[in-house]
Amino acid sequence: MDYEKYIEAGKIAAGIMEEGIAMIKPGVKLLRVANDIEGLIEERGAKPAFPVNISLNAVAAHYSPDAWDESIFEKGDLVKLDLGVHLDGYIADIAKSKDLGENKDLVNASTEALENAIDAMKPGAMTNEVGAIIEETIKGYGFRPVSNLTGHMLRQWNLHGGIIIPNVSTRHGDQIEEGSVFAIEPFATDGAGRVVDETNAIIFRYIADRPVRMKEARDILKHVKTNFGSLPFAERWVSGMTSRIKLTQALRQLILQKALYAYHILREKEHGTVSQAEHTVIVKEDGCEVTTRA
Ligand code: MN
Ligand code: MN
Repeated sequence: MDYEKYIEAGKIAAGIMEEGIAMIKPGVKLLRVANDIEGLIEERGAKPAFPVNISLNAVAAHYSPDAWDESIFEKGDLVKLDLGVHLDGYIADIAKSKDLGENKDLVNASTEALENAIDAMKPGAMTNEVGAIIEETIKGYGFRPVSNLTGHMLRQWNLHGGIIIPNVSTRHGDQIEEGSVFAIEPFATDGAGRVVDETNAIIFRYIADRPVRMKEARDILKHVKTNFGSLPFAERWVSGMTSRIKLTQALRQLILQKALYAYHILREKEHGTVSQAEHTVIVKEDGCEVTTRA
């Protein structure tokens, strides 16, 4: 395991997060921020570990503007910026919320829950104890944690390395081991505390080679396998390969054939507003080291 690369990726991600948060202002296009951030990642010699997620208000995760997205940030929005950087597959995963309205407490709830969770990360601690701390902190603010979104272990080239860090107290947990790497990501909401799938998806991941009829679909599958491997990619990253109509058809075919996995946009069940905070940590002998701290 290459801890140096985890730490270097974390530093790059932390710096770009600060720049990205500063770009988010009313009137600015989401597409511009996504493109600029992904450009900065490449400029600094790294690669995006997944498409920049820019999720607004009741959308908790998995929104990333497509190539034709015209939407802009508006006064009142609560923006979750979630970005991933990797160096040779060693991933840094970081998210912050920017409040363009009056959701200061909601943002503080997830941020403080993250800090309290980080303080509890050490060898021998149980993942469900960390979840209980997150839940308690968020409820202390009068909000609900999102129970069906979780933190996750990171492994080289793998965003979800098996063990999860729940955002609520659960009956069973796993023991946290020295040397393991985790992304911890509390979500807080004034809604029900659950997310549901929207019908559409803009982020995908290669699963396997499958026979498909359309030539464009075969070309896209080969391209994403070669360039992104097991890591997620955005529709935007392949939109130059064919026309918009054929792109939609090709992606639909590939999902139906289970050649691609579709990450559906996740929305709060009761349309509650959602905040998020996330850091990546390496578990050390007597605690943990945050790789994504600025
Ligand atoms: Mn993330
Ligand atoms: Mn994550």
